[in-house]
Amino acid sequence: MSIIHDAVFVGSFARADDCPTTPLPEYAFIGRSNVGKSSLVNLLTGRKALAKVSSTPGKTQLLNYFIVNKSWHLVDLPGYGYARVSKTSRAKWEKMIHHYLLKREQLTCLFVLLDSSIGPQEIDMAFLQKLGELRIPFAIVYTKTDRDTQNNIQKNIQQIRQRILKDWADVPNEFSTSASKGRGREDILQFIDSMNQGE
Ligand code: GDP
Repeated sequence: MSIIHDAVFVGSFARADDCPTTPLPEYAFIGRSNVGKSSLVNLLTGRKALAKVSSTPGKTQLLNYFIVNKSWHLVDLPGYGYARVSKTSRAKWEKMIHHYLLKREQLTCLFVLLDSSIGPQEIDMAFLQKLGELRIPFAIVYTKTDRDTQNNIQKNIQQIRQRILKDWADVPNEFSTSASKGRGREDILQFIDSMNQGE
């Protein structure tokens, strides 16, 4: 069993260059706004309000660091795809994330959240494509698996997989979660544990 003894907020940083210099392995979470990222971070850490659910779109975008069990960093990255966002803020987000992904040697795996209650979204596929170009190791996390019938959820996941396979030779590691039902926590934490142990 993967146990989180403690998860402590470290700080919010505006640039990758300002992030903690400690060599702890780091796991980052990203996704379209409203995908359920804050809810998932809270589920993983077992802290109801560690990440703010549905923070106001368009507000200052920061890289939020938490230290878990004094041994790894969980990074809550600003999301993409807000409906009402200026070109300038989008460009700023791109620059910040690009820089973060390329500069953080501690980044062990980026978890990309995809909403399982809807089918494949081009904005997500474009983001995955970018990760491929930059050679960033990533895994997929399907969120909100409680939000529709299991039949429809499985159909959506299947469609997303097929879409991914148009661009990729294999389906990446993937996890099914529901923050509402508390599903998927153990699988992700075990995966992180095994990566930390170098397996
Ligand atoms: P974020 O913008 O990606 O951080 O997403 P939030 O965690 O704020 O969630 C966005 C919305 O989706 C909120 O209304 C949440 O209550 C809802 N939500 C998040 N996770 C789940 C889930 O597992 N199941 C369901 N049904 N709704 C969820």
